[in-house]
Amino acid sequence: EAAVKNEILAKAREMQVKFIRLQFTDILGVLKNVAITVEQLEKALDGELMFDGSSIEGFVRIEESDMYLRPDPSTFVVFPWRPREGAVARLMCDVYNPDGTPFEGCPRNALKKALAEAAEMGYSMNVGPEAEFFLFQVDENGQPTLKTHDNAGYFDLTPVDMGENARRSMVLTLEDMGFEIEASHHEVAPGQHEIDFKYGDALDVADKIVTFKFVVRTIAQRHGLHATFMPKPIFGINGSGMHCHQSLFVDGKNAFYDAGSPDGMSQLAKYYIGGLMKHARAFAAITNPTVNSYKRLVPGYEAPVYIAWSERNRSPLIRVPAKRGMSTRIELRCPDPSCNPYLAIAAMLKCGMDGIKNKIEPATPCEKNIYHMSPAERADLGIGSLPASLMEAMQELSADEVVKSALGPHIFEKFIEAKTKEWDSFRVQVHPWEVEEYLSKF
Ligand code: GLU
Ligand code: MG
Ligand code: MG
Repeated sequence: EAAVKNEILAKAREMQVKFIRLQFTDILGVLKNVAITVEQLEKALDGELMFDGSSIEGFVRIEESDMYLRPDPSTFVVFPWRPREGAVARLMCDVYNPDGTPFEGCPRNALKKALAEAAEMGYSMNVGPEAEFFLFQVDENGQPTLKTHDNAGYFDLTPVDMGENARRSMVLTLEDMGFEIEASHHEVAPGQHEIDFKYGDALDVADKIVTFKFVVRTIAQRHGLHATFMPKPIFGINGSGMHCHQSLFVDGKNAFYDAGSPDGMSQLAKYYIGGLMKHARAFAAITNPTVNSYKRLVPGYEAPVYIAWSERNRSPLIRVPAKRGMSTRIELRCPDPSCNPYLAIAAMLKCGMDGIKNKIEPATPCEKNIYHMSPAERADLGIGSLPASLMEAMQELSADEVVKSALGPHIFEKFIEAKTKEWDSFRVQVHPWEVEEYLSKF
């Protein structure tokens, strides 16, 4: 403890850090931070810094608003785009109550709890996210527009592409911050990009997703562009997903791999898939938590709609990439980057673990294109579909004890409260589509 603390204090001195941002997310996954000066760092590392949590989404009531931030020293990193002298660093924090207990409204604590439960059964979780995003132009007032600056497509390269330059600079910045970038490419839609970093331990990856989004948006801005992780910014073209590759490890070995089984997958992996499929309609509220999320989950845009799994085709909810051995994993394709990664990973893990505990066999893999099946054929094969709206997802969540337990009662309640407000505000709008459809008809 003391050694880690001294190491960070030394690093801060050596890198001429003047400001440290203490970061955490609210229940919606929005990154928050309090900046302190380096003089306060020691106190902060001791978890002695207090803040007023009353105005943070899903946090506390006014009368109990004192909260403590406990930085995780392993998350110390200097922002490469800030000045070298008087540099700015950050630390990810857990939120604690004044009495020293973990605050139950802190999403990072919720993930830690789920991971600890899995660890008790001998499992650690690895996650590899694929976050997609759009780069849009800003108008003369600096406001984001829906205009892309390119017309490129999947894996394209353009000679003078502002997006390509911005993406390059994002990759370099992320590498400076300790990310191991595996690939970055233009995605299917114009202005759409993807940057993949190496899979890793679930908590570290959740921290990295939050950091990633913040870095991508910051660098885009410095290139005069707006980056958005909104799931479906434009009707009629692909939306942005955040597919999550995942696997469980036991004693450093991939527990999803079984060299002796015909498909190289262990029974454990199958149960994990079974658990995910069983609870998909409920965890969708967490992995796809916005009104807009459900505009992405429609046929025709490489996003999943139906609850099925496959070893080959990409239309189902779960795909099993061909790699075996240490790389054996499943890819859950519904999550989108508007989710709170801590809660999303906690929910996925809990559901996979439920499959393992209760030996839930998944249906047989579906190698046909489900989009070409009739509703009757799907019904015959028992293929259900993901919720069609945030409202439907919330109803499913409210009835699912496994997903609820991943959040805990506090977050569940605050989440439903915030999302019901969001849904109600959407519900009363008169959409341009309605005007076009009905104005002259009736
Ligand atoms: N953009 C697609 C989605 O909404 C995914 C495309 C891909 O397979 O990478 O999930
Ligand atoms: Mg992609
Ligand atoms: Mg993918």
